[in-house]
Amino acid sequence: LTERTPLIAGNWKMNLDHLQAIALVQKLAWGLADVRHDFSAAEVAVFPPFTDLRSVQTLLAADKLSLTLGAQDVSPHESGAYTGDISAAMLAKLDVTYALVGHSERRHGHGESDETVGRKARAAQAAGMVPMICVGETAEDLEQHGAAAIPVAQLTAALAHLPEGAEFVVAYEPVWAIGSGQAATPEQAQEVARALREHLRDLVGDERAARTRILYGGSVASQNIAGFMRQPDVDGALVGGASLKVDEFTRIIQFQK
Ligand code: PEP
Repeated sequence: LTERTPLIAGNWKMNLDHLQAIALVQKLAWGLADVRHDFSAAEVAVFPPFTDLRSVQTLLAADKLSLTLGAQDVSPHESGAYTGDISAAMLAKLDVTYALVGHSERRHGHGESDETVGRKARAAQAAGMVPMICVGETAEDLEQHGAAAIPVAQLTAALAHLPEGAEFVVAYEPVWAIGSGQAATPEQAQEVARALREHLRDLVGDERAARTRILYGGSVASQNIAGFMRQPDVDGALVGGASLKVDEFTRIIQFQK
């Protein structure tokens, strides 16, 4: 049996300035220190806006806090004349471990193609970060193709850009569940996570497929986290709105209790 460390990731989206970010991370770290002996051995990651990363990194390093840092996006380009972009090297230099690529708000709000998502994943990986590849079907996709077809196709397209042996995390986020308060059922999440892992076996081999963490995201809350974490192919959660509320996010992290 392959051990996959559970990962609870908080995507703050476009919320919190750098002072609010520091306050949230401090409160979160204090809360977790109190319950640390009592909660699952989950890895906890936060994904602040770019402008908060330096402040959060400094705080984590100074206080030796065991939270991992992620970025919400990354440029597909290495450097140069790309006004407004943030490169993978810049993020890696700030001790950023994960880079979200292909979040539905980027795919649908900014028209990012599978090709762009794949190139971003590659840029993150080349700089030493772990791409967190987000995939998920819209309500319309679900009706027309079922739940798994689109996520599987999106993952296949992204992985075509990564070299053999590259580490990555998959976040399955049904678009209809994000920010809607209408989470998938644990069984729905498991069905797609299982299909993704099955497909990964063909794409990256049995061993890598067994080691790859697949997260569920979409209206995760303290009331529903345990159901997702009980599923054999769901290894964690990508949490949006609820990650901005320290008490709620702490309860989510304590999912096994
Ligand atoms: C997300 O931003 O990835 C997300 C899943 O949001 P929410 O938890 O608010 O649905």
